[in-house]
Amino acid sequence: MLPDTYPISNERENTVRLMMKMQCSKCSKSFIWTDDLPLRGKCPTDDCDWHYDVRKELGKALEKKAVSSPDSILCPSCRNPITSKWTICASCGNVVAGKQYFTKKHLFTLVVFLLVILSLIYRYWS
Ligand SMILES: [Zn+2]
Ligand SMILES: [Zn+2]
Repeated sequence: MLPDTYPISNERENTVRLMMKMQCSKCSKSFIWTDDLPLRGKCPTDDCDWHYDVRKELGKALEKKAVSSPDSILCPSCRNPITSKWTICASCGNVVAGKQYFTKKHLFTLVVFLLVILSLIYRYWS
């Protein structure tokens, strides 16, 4: 499991605090580390003697992210990373369908074309 880091902003105190999801490598229970806890400490599970080191975990997480980034999905149109193979690209606004992409104008033509085909099939069968 990847430890996730995320800042939480506290509007009242006007500070940004760091939280990190940690997973114990001994009892495999996960817990949330916040920056008011020490950087090194003991697993919160009572009968577990695992000690965490936030800096080490953070390094591991960054390493994993660096390794996994080359095979992230790229938009076939603008080559920016996208979240799924079937999506609308946030960078160029084109509709991504697997390795193909359509501009919104293309997609409209495609939908009209499909509707025409469907109406022909409908007429033929009824
Ligand atoms: Zn533990
Ligand atoms: Zn794009």
